[in-house]
Parts: sequence; structure tokens; C-alpha cells
Amino acid sequence: MKYETVIGLEVHVELATKSKIFCSCSAHSYGADPNAHVCPACCGMPGMLPVVNKRVVDYGMKAGLMLNCHINRTTTFDKKSYYYPDLPAAYQTTQWFAPVAVNGLVEIETSKGKKGVRIKQIHMEEDAGKLVHDIREDTTHVDFNRTSVPLIEIVSQPDLSSAEEVEAYLERLKTLLRFAKVAECEMAHGTMRCDVNLSVRPEGSDKLGVRAEMKNMNSIEAIKRAIEYETARHIDAIENGTEVLRQETRRWDDIKGKSYAMRTKETAGDYRYFPDPNVMPVVIDDEWFDSIKASLPELPEVKRARYTDEYGLSDYDAEQLTKSIALCECFEKAYEVCGNAKDVANWIISEAMSILNVRKMTYDMLDVDGKALGELINLVSGGKVSRVNGKKILSAMFDDPHIDPAKYAESNGYVVSNDTGLIEKVVAQVIAGDPKAVSDFKGGKEKALMSLFGRCMKELKGNCDPQVLRTILIDAINAL
Ligand code: ZN
Ligand code: MN
Repeated sequence: MKYETVIGLEVHVELATKSKIFCSCSAHSYGADPNAHVCPACCGMPGMLPVVNKRVVDYGMKAGLMLNCHINRTTTFDKKSYYYPDLPAAYQTTQWFAPVAVNGLVEIETSKGKKGVRIKQIHMEEDAGKLVHDIREDTTHVDFNRTSVPLIEIVSQPDLSSAEEVEAYLERLKTLLRFAKVAECEMAHGTMRCDVNLSVRPEGSDKLGVRAEMKNMNSIEAIKRAIEYETARHIDAIENGTEVLRQETRRWDDIKGKSYAMRTKETAGDYRYFPDPNVMPVVIDDEWFDSIKASLPELPEVKRARYTDEYGLSDYDAEQLTKSIALCECFEKAYEVCGNAKDVANWIISEAMSILNVRKMTYDMLDVDGKALGELINLVSGGKVSRVNGKKILSAMFDDPHIDPAKYAESNGYVVSNDTGLIEKVVAQVIAGDPKAVSDFKGGKEKALMSLFGRCMKELKGNCDPQVLRTILIDAINAL
């Protein structure tokens, strides 16, 4: 018999807000001492009063709209009760009865074509703390820096059927949320975590099989391997009766390449969801809703089409530039200043992106002001700064985003001199120093000219129009 795999995902995404979801503690504790960013509210002390961070609702709405959801204009928070040492209040404040966004759709594309994945809901909730196990002392410590860091959980319908589709879906979520500047979505940093719900059924059947859930998967590779392993395990159980499948939570061990039963799956009833009386319902009025709607970015594929149609860029250039919203914004601003799309694309793709690569920065981390880049491009294309020195200025702009390219060129001696007297003097010196290269060139060796040209340019510190230098150099040799 042929089988199909049925997969639904619950994806937790850490929102890129400055502070936590219900208090003003910093949501970013990377490198901080344990428990340095905590207060009575996020530690769940009795009598504390949580206050909803408006920015979290902004981001929840943005995520919902990016994923084509309906936004609940009155959205409420609920308590999800469970006991675990990393959850100091013994309940998580999350959304159950009226999540911020419901009924969405995400389109993905795989080798099999396009497909829609339905989104059941997106809810806002707080993260739990971290347990730090000390093997030497045989103790466990609790770090509450991460408690109440804002998350959204994106719950899909069971519309995915292969590892390839899961990968395409996660990539699409990442792109949409990053373009909306809602979240970083980096599995390796823990800012995107994924629970995989999987079952297997005979192909064509509309009844769902017994479901296993694998929690907190943290790499796409591990997810793919786990999906393949689980699919095989389920088919084996159905066909050969190797085990009785139960609805359960399983742990994926990526080193062993196996999954293990952890506990039988709890149902919603086990969590005793009930409205959190401490958190007021959030009412999203028209003004708020409209302002969020107006702030949404153009989708990357819309930008790509516009870059080729409107600016005449090649498909390749448009593809490269739309790899992050930061690249797009830099491109669009620089274009406004200098008006030459192809030039801007070249500067971003061959210069800025390679600096990002060398510095091991992501394309989202580009922090160069597009307006300043446009001015720099004007300096270079206007012959005021050589391309070589232009690159040096760009590199400096990475270190200090406030640099004014024209002033920087001036104060660092990067302005092309039109002083032909100086150029002639340097040319004369270089020629006199290498009679062999001169006679080689006169004997027809083009390469010899390039070597003389290079030395002159070096003497002039690159501050010379190459065409002017070339003409003066050839004239000087011919005059010998
Ligand atoms: Zn706090
Ligand atoms: Mn959750």
C-alpha cells in the first residue's frame, strides 16, 4: 500500500521588540549575567501586574497580515497552567480564546509546484526561562532572563506532506517575517523553534492517522531527518505491527538519528486554559489597524518584478537585491539620489554584499545609509573619486554609518586631482625608472603598459582619472 505523510507545524518565533511582553525588562540578554534582566512581573511574583507591550501587538498584527490572516480586533490573554521550574508563575500567559490572528494562508513553492498552507492561528505568548544543568556539581540553575520574552506561535493546519514542503514553508515564514521586521527567525540563534506534528495514512484517505509530536526542533536538517525517520517508523508499525502507535510527544536525538517517546500527548484540557484576569483585553481600533496595514512592506516577489520592469535590472540583480529588506531599502534610497539603478545594483551586489560576507554578517545586517551610498556613487561616476578609493570609503561607511562620503573623501585625500602637472611629473619619474618596460611596450607588449600604468596610479594614490592618466602616459612614451 502507498502512504502519505501528514504534517502540521507549530512555529515559535521570538519577536524583535526591545522589551519583554508584560514588563519593561530588556528582551535581549545575550551575554548578560543570569537573572540580570528580571523583575517581579516576569518572575511571576504574587501581586505583580502585567502590562501588555503595545509593540508586541503591533508585531503580532503585522505577522498575521503578512500571513493573510484575519485579525481579531478584540484579542485576549489566557493562562495555560503547567508546572515546570523554568516557569515561575506555574502558568504561561498566552492566547487561547481570541488569538491575535486566525485563518491565514501561506503560499509555498517546491519542485512539485505551488501550494497553499492554511494557517490555523497566530497567538502571542511569553517565553519560559532556561534551566542550566551543572554536571560537575550535579545541580540545576534557573535563569529567568528569557521569561516573558515575547513570542508568536504560528500554528498551521496539517497541510504539509514532505520534508521539502516543510523546508519551503519555514523559509517562506522567515522571509515574510524578516521583510516585515518582526523577527530575526534564525533557528541557530533560537529565535525560531519548531514543533513537528506528524502522522501517516493510506494515500487518498481523508482520515488522519495517530499523531506524534516532536518538540523544539532547532535546525532544518534535523527536521528533515526526523520527518523521514518518523514516516518510516509509522509505516513499519502499520504494515508490520512492530509497535502500537500512540498519540505522544517524542524527543528527536539528532546524533543517534532516532526519536524517543517522552510522554503521552496532553490535551488542551490538561492545561486548564482560562482568561487571565490580570491582563486587560486588547481592543484594536481602526486607526491602529490601518496604521499597521500601511506599514507593511512590499512582498519580495513584488519588489523583484518591479526592479526588472521599472528599473530595467537583470533577473539576477533583482534576485540578489531582494535577499533582505535591508538591501532593498539601501538600493531604493541610493537610487533616489543617483538615478542609476544598474550602478547602485553593482555597488550593492559586488561591493556591499562581499563586505558583508567577509565580515560574516547577514544581509539583514546591512547598516549603510542608502542616501550616503547614492552620494558616493555620484562621486565615483562623476570622476571625483576613483573606484578603488570609493570602495575604501564604502568600507569606512560600514564602520561608521554617519560618514558623509564627500567630506570623508576630502579629509582622507581621496579626491581625484585634475592636476595634470602632477600626473606628468609622476609619469616622467616612473618611465625614467623602467626603460625596459618602455621598450617592451614600444616593441608591442601591451602588458608592459599596464605595469607602468599601475605604478603611476599607485604613486598618485588612486586619485586620478584612469583615462587622463592613460593618455598622458602613452603621450609621454611616444614623445621619447
Ligand atoms: Zn521583567
Ligand atoms: Mn507555545
